[in-house]
Amino acid sequence: MYDIIIIGGGPAGLTAGLYSARARLDVLLLERLAPGGQVLTTDWVENYPGFPDGVSGFELIDRMKAQAEKFALRIQTEDVSRVDLSGQKKVVYTSQGQLETKAIILACGATWKKLGIEGEEDLIGRGVSFCATCDGPFYRDQEVAVIGGGDTAVEEALFLTRFVSKVYLIHRRDELRATKLLQERAMAEKKIEFIWDTVPQRILGHDGVEAIELRNVKTGSASKKDVKGVFVFIGTIPNTELVKGQVELDENGSVITDNNMETSVPGVFAAGDLRSKLFRQISTAVGEGAAASFAAEKYVENYKERG
Ligand code: NAP
Repeated sequence: MYDIIIIGGGPAGLTAGLYSARARLDVLLLERLAPGGQVLTTDWVENYPGFPDGVSGFELIDRMKAQAEKFALRIQTEDVSRVDLSGQKKVVYTSQGQLETKAIILACGATWKKLGIEGEEDLIGRGVSFCATCDGPFYRDQEVAVIGGGDTAVEEALFLTRFVSKVYLIHRRDELRATKLLQERAMAEKKIEFIWDTVPQRILGHDGVEAIELRNVKTGSASKKDVKGVFVFIGTIPNTELVKGQVELDENGSVITDNNMETSVPGVFAAGDLRSKLFRQISTAVGEGAAASFAAEKYVENYKERG
């Protein structure tokens, strides 16, 4: 039986893994794909302390992984299909079989939210994208739309200006949610045209995106922009399907924890973007991963005492 199984290999999971491995616990980190999570789709990170010139999302994750593995963290690529948190011994089911552990740290992150409009699903991978870093270079000298007004939308719109001839930044209000510095940069960028108070209605295209239909939410007027790409950055939904009905979630489906990152189930901890909280940053995920590891370590010590 493991001491701790960590599910998810983004910044929260890798940090929990680093701390747990250094504490000489028998810990295993399970990750569906390659470690990294959403940070891998971030071109450049400039607000993570210790990197005054910024660092690519890829390099940051690579360094976090190398640091955790230096202390012998075991990372396994496996899709977790089910967890049973009902007993003192927690059970994790994967395609390879079942694993038993004393404690679990949930660090499964979040997934990009979709618009849910006509054309979106059909054209994913053919013009509809959730990753400017991955797909931006395909749109050299073309016009694209970015949907959303948060940090991600503005950051990614700025990144896209390296390649495209124009970005329509389409936001449902007349004020951005993004941090002021990003707002200033976007406002100063000639390739970005803001379309305020507007929501997408339909994405048109056959083999690829050809246009996007829009509606002004104040006037009700409809318009259309001929774009080759639609980048959707309207927030995220927490990856908590695995634990639904087993740990307490908030109204958005995020995991509720106490200050020590412990969920409503003893021995089950959560860290990073799947947690119920207001601020989602790499730096906060890392802090929560460390805190969750510490709390899990204490839990495992007591578990031993209970025999
Ligand atoms: P977010 O902050 O939740 O912003 C989502 C944006 O999409 C909002 O502007 C929202 O509009 C809009 N939106 C939501 N649902 C929509 C819909 N159905 N149709 C049209 N627009 C919709 O998400 P995010 O930008 O992905 O950021 C997530 C978290 O990561 C945040 O905490 C953010 O600060 C953090 N983050 C930080 C950085 C950084 O520090 N460099 C970079 C990326 C992300 P309203 O504004 O009207 O609600």
